[in-house]
Amino acid sequence: MQAIGYERARDLPTALEAGRRPGTSFIAGGTNLLDLMKGGVATPQILLDINHVPGLDAVVELPDGGLRIGTLVRNSDAANHPLIRQRYPLLSQAILAGASAQLRNMATMGGNLMQRTRCYYFYDIGFTQCNKRAPGSGCAALEGHNRIHAILGASEQCIATHPSDMAVALAALEARVQVQGPEGERAIPFAQFHRLPGDTPEHDNTLAPGELITAIDLPASRFADHATYLKIRDRTSYAFALVSVAVGLRTERSGDGSLVVREARIALGGVAAKPWRATATEDALIGKPLNDDILQQAAALAMRDARAYPGNRFKIALAQRAIVRAVKTAGGVA
Ligand code: SF4
Repeated sequence: MQAIGYERARDLPTALEAGRRPGTSFIAGGTNLLDLMKGGVATPQILLDINHVPGLDAVVELPDGGLRIGTLVRNSDAANHPLIRQRYPLLSQAILAGASAQLRNMATMGGNLMQRTRCYYFYDIGFTQCNKRAPGSGCAALEGHNRIHAILGASEQCIATHPSDMAVALAALEARVQVQGPEGERAIPFAQFHRLPGDTPEHDNTLAPGELITAIDLPASRFADHATYLKIRDRTSYAFALVSVAVGLRTERSGDGSLVVREARIALGGVAAKPWRATATEDALIGKPLNDDILQQAAALAMRDARAYPGNRFKIALAQRAIVRAVKTAGGVA
């Protein structure tokens, strides 16, 4: 048995100072970290509990009309917060689509972003080949069971997907991740927070050692009236997305009465190591009416660089159909 130290941080400066020590892991809800520790995948020497650090558990309005959600806000509280439900229903829907109520009651906003892939080979240390867990060891999923794996942005080193539903909505909403660390404070645009695997799949995100997420900032709401989160999974609850789609639209009626897209934000989950913005699809919808031909052509653009493996070829067609359905739902033409 490995001994693990436990400490409770009383304020942010203390947490940041203590978090610099090698072998230290921040812990809040612990809903993923404890699973990783029980399986021997994560082996921290010190758990630094940040649950009691003041000032990190609030939802506050920002001067630019946006919203700041503290890193310690529980997922349930965020999903049910009146301002988030009213202004960012996409985020509320995505959070409620993820995990069980019990897990959402414990899981925090920052922790949700830090959760690791659910690749079977990553979690089972009996498999020796996993570059994400043991860099340089290989990737068992390439020749193994790859039904849940990536079709976009993968590398020969790793084809894992990111498991978060919430993160897909945050990508579409163009959130910013506020962090503090040894070098001070910075804001990371959401698209730059999670990493594609490349040659270093062991790094899931762009946090520097010792940095701590303190909040997630949302820009002023523009998509509250036309937004939806669609999650496709093997069963209707307690399952990670095979494919998910977060959509926010701004539309208006044209002279002939048809509904035309003025602005679109679309992000995909379950297809890559990070939430995947479908920018070509977004661009293809601008100025267009929401009809089947246009939607299917636009959805196909999201998959033009897709590369499937024997177990997950179905995801390409599934993702295209899911995009069409989600955009229709968001636009109110489903
Ligand atoms: Fe490991 Fe990534 Fe391969 Fe899964 S896909 S076995 S996480 S290297």
